[in-house]
Amino acid sequence: MVQINYRAEVIPEKCTGCVDCVFVCPTLAIKMEARKAVIDESKCVACQNCIGICGDDAIVKLERAEPMERHVDYQSVDQERVLEICKRANIHPMQWLCLCTATRAREGAAAILNGATTPEDMALATGTRSGCTVYCAMMSMRLLKAAGVNLPPAFKWHLFDTTQTLWDVPQDVIDKYSDYFLVEDKDVFRKF
Ligand code: SF4
Ligand code: SF4
Repeated sequence: MVQINYRAEVIPEKCTGCVDCVFVCPTLAIKMEARKAVIDESKCVACQNCIGICGDDAIVKLERAEPMERHVDYQSVDQERVLEICKRANIHPMQWLCLCTATRAREGAAAILNGATTPEDMALATGTRSGCTVYCAMMSMRLLKAAGVNLPPAFKWHLFDTTQTLWDVPQDVIDKYSDYFLVEDKDVFRKF
């Protein structure tokens, strides 16, 4: 369970309408209205990306009146399907999906089975991307791809691509560089 104690709020008088904050919000919580940024409080996971990028100091961090909780009960969905998604992603179900919020991959898989189709959906369901906002984005995309979700084209820098791992090395490269023991490495990791 992730408890979010803060939220971001725009000071309209200071906002110059540059739109920079819209592009860095990991939950698509910010919209422009009458050339001013407006934050949907119910979607703000308090990552502070917007505060960091606003060159006009037009966004402030405020304490929530009531903490917002985000949690996906992985046991509420079909466990076989959770395992299947994690296995296809080559991610152990207990592996961290998000280090900042201590969210495990099985919760991400459960969020997908509950209908999440984008990293933003997953962030809203699980509370991830409220810390560094980067590591869990990559893990979320790996899980989504493993579940057969076709990710939409990147919108500015909302979507990063997944970083290359051992599992992404093409077979012809593995064969060509057999001295690197990539086949053996895969066998070792599969035992986990
Ligand atoms: S980054 Fe700041 S100035 Fe630019 S739209 Fe957002 S709140 Fe307004
Ligand atoms: S989620 Fe992050 S970027 Fe989006 S409004 Fe909240 S603090 Fe700003």
